[in-house]
Amino acid sequence: MANRKTKILAIDDNQDNLITLNALIKEAFPEAVILAALNGKRGLELAASEDPDVILLDIVMPDMDGFDVCKKLKADPNLRDTPVVFVTALKGDKQSRILALEVGADAFLAKPIDESELTAQIRAMVKIKTAHIERRDEKERLAALVEEKTSELKRSYIATINLMEDLKRENEARQKSDEALQASEARYRRITEGLTDYQYTVRIEKGCAVETKHSPACVVITGYTAEEFAADAFLWLRMVAPEDRELIIERARHIMEGEDIPPIEHRIIRKDGELRWVTDNIILYKSDSGDLMYYDGVVKDITERKKAEVEKHKLEEQLRQSHKMEAIGTLAGGVAHDFNNILTAIIGFGTMAKRRLKGEESIGEYIGEMLAAANRAAELTHALLAFSRKQTIALKPENLNDIVYNVEKMLRRVIGEEIEFKTKLAHDDIPVMVDRGQIDQVLLNLATNARDAMPDGGVLSVETDIVDIDGSYPEAHLFENKGPHAVLTVSDTGYGMDQNTRGNIFEPFFTTKEVGKGTGLGLAVVYGIVKQHGGNISVYSEPGKGTTFRIYLPLANASVYDSLRTALPLPLGKGETILVAEDDNKVRKIIMMSLEGHGYKGIESEDGDTAVKRFIENNDSVSLLLLDVIMPSKNGRDAYEEIKRIRPDIKAIFMSGYTDDIIAKKGVLQDSVDFIAKPIDPDALLRKIRTVLDR
Ligand code: ADP
Ligand code: MG
Repeated sequence: MANRKTKILAIDDNQDNLITLNALIKEAFPEAVILAALNGKRGLELAASEDPDVILLDIVMPDMDGFDVCKKLKADPNLRDTPVVFVTALKGDKQSRILALEVGADAFLAKPIDESELTAQIRAMVKIKTAHIERRDEKERLAALVEEKTSELKRSYIATINLMEDLKRENEARQKSDEALQASEARYRRITEGLTDYQYTVRIEKGCAVETKHSPACVVITGYTAEEFAADAFLWLRMVAPEDRELIIERARHIMEGEDIPPIEHRIIRKDGELRWVTDNIILYKSDSGDLMYYDGVVKDITERKKAEVEKHKLEEQLRQSHKMEAIGTLAGGVAHDFNNILTAIIGFGTMAKRRLKGEESIGEYIGEMLAAANRAAELTHALLAFSRKQTIALKPENLNDIVYNVEKMLRRVIGEEIEFKTKLAHDDIPVMVDRGQIDQVLLNLATNARDAMPDGGVLSVETDIVDIDGSYPEAHLFENKGPHAVLTVSDTGYGMDQNTRGNIFEPFFTTKEVGKGTGLGLAVVYGIVKQHGGNISVYSEPGKGTTFRIYLPLANASVYDSLRTALPLPLGKGETILVAEDDNKVRKIIMMSLEGHGYKGIESEDGDTAVKRFIENNDSVSLLLLDVIMPSKNGRDAYEEIKRIRPDIKAIFMSGYTDDIIAKKGVLQDSVDFIAKPIDPDALLRKIRTVLDR
């Protein structure tokens, strides 16, 4: 304000008044800038452009009077603070003063203007204006400060936010790396936990082992701690499985002689008695003079690998075996078949020749011998055919327990009195679909071999049982179809077999018996029969430890087993679907069971409406309708008619407690339909179904 010249604006329509004012002001404020306006409009313009310190305003002016000008000035935010001094001619005009105050007048000067009053007023007004300006400046400064602080705050806020975001990102990254770290730690832990290898060092002095140190991990593989190894100089050798000790001692000798040896694979018996396979990888350290100073061994548990190898070997062996058997079977079957025809001719003509011989005793005897030999040959070919599975077998429902029970007497005769015969049969019936004579043959062949294996007596035992073959069953790999099986176990306490024999026993003509004692066909036949029944056979045997054969046969469906057993061979379904409509629950269940037990699929419905509904649901698959004639909601004929509209050629069999005749008379059925009378004989029903389906 100090270096600002005081600016005074005078607004008056009277030129003379302005001149007077100018003179007066100049007198009092020689430095002041004096602006003059001859009307209100010009005055407002100057006020806006010059920002005066004081405005001297005349009241009475044409166009725009002083009140209007003041109102406008006070309405302008830039000029609101500029003091307005009304210059009035009317000294005591109270009305004008009030009006002037209302529009914002700051002070009054009466005309004629007194110089000292003018000076005082202007000074006062300038002070006000200065104060205003100062206040405004202060306000602006404050505003600027606030602005500055705000933007500073804003900046720091943004910086904070950025920082926070950075932190967040960093945190996330850290978290991720934490996770990665944790994962890698876990992995490392797993690896180290899995790392069961251990290491040992043997110090040698003058060709003798003087100190052995095991790494702590030895306890994982062996069950023995490093301290136990340190305390017992021969623990390492005692731990080796007896079968491998010789090998280890031999290797130890090589080591002591300073020879490098390849890794040794051997078995150990853990402290808890478990057998494990390990490899021991040995590195020798020698002095400059070539003396062995110490050696390191790294021991690794390879049990799982060994198991897998054995398993793989077993599977390969089985595959090879089954291929071989297949090939031999085909060959044997082909030869046997032709040979059988030749034998038929030999036996046929031989028999005729013998019949025609009259009185030629000796020739008759010769022919008799020839025929006997031919019959033996026929038996052989029969056996070969059985092995090659070319022989037809007739499967019937049988109880495996019965078979064993009935053949017992014959078996006892075969094995003689030196050998004890034991049976252990399952409590429940064991329903199987088998050719009984063939199973007898299997038992006979196995018993014969058992007898031969126990020349000094022993025990032959035959057991029956049912086992559920699932993935965990020890011999599960043998089975194409898992699930419950009948198992027939035949074991003896004889001399057993070595691995080589075991690998060949099912081959035709493989025998270890002296000429004339064995044909080598017994087990080949057993194998053929078992395979032909869809079964499996396994053998366990060790020299001197007896032999156990296990024969698995598919189990027959127990629910239909009983009804089947008493029946003649029944024509079976080929998976056809039959829609059954019958309102009597019991009858319907029996029919369903019988259908499902004989190769059909059944769809149940308890009345005519449901039958139609089920047919629509299963339209494509249904081959035959089995309809009760009298049913609630819709009788059998109506259901049939409705279904016929969907499929005109649908086959149907009607069932009813009424006789054929009565129903026909009632007009329920046309005489051309197939009909079966109640009570329904399941076998008759099955036969009828087959006939209708095959028509
Ligand atoms: P064969 O009895 O005429 O020798 P097999 O096919 O019945 O022919 O048996 C083949 C071989 O399997 C026998 O020679 C014998 O070496 C071995 N073998 C079969 N069963 C037993 C058993 N229970 N104990 C020991 N060895 C057996
Ligand atoms: Mg035999």
